[in-house]
Amino acid sequence: MKERICQTCGCSLSQENLVRHRIIPESVATGAGISGARTVALCPNCSQEVQNWYAKKVLHMNYDEVTRRFKPKSPAELVKEYEGVYKTFVRYKKVALKI
Ligand SMILES: [Zn+2]
Repeated sequence: MKERICQTCGCSLSQENLVRHRIIPESVATGAGISGARTVALCPNCSQEVQNWYAKKVLHMNYDEVTRRFKPKSPAELVKEYEGVYKTFVRYKKVALKI
């Protein structure tokens, strides 16, 4: 049984307990024409936490000043959005855990 490390909090777990997390969800990556999008190995806690962050922090709409309406972001904009939220999550964990 190989020991592995969560790439966010640094805790060590056996390989079968690590969750392969896609930074950009498959449907978004496919929509943006990206194949083989980056994945990271996370512990179940961090995996759940980052999913909660995505649910709360990923903004799927832009406000258009001209039409004064919200419109859906393009797949490329959504990719940036997910990457940004993931980066913020990693920074938050490092500060919270002082690592
Ligand atoms: Zn973790």
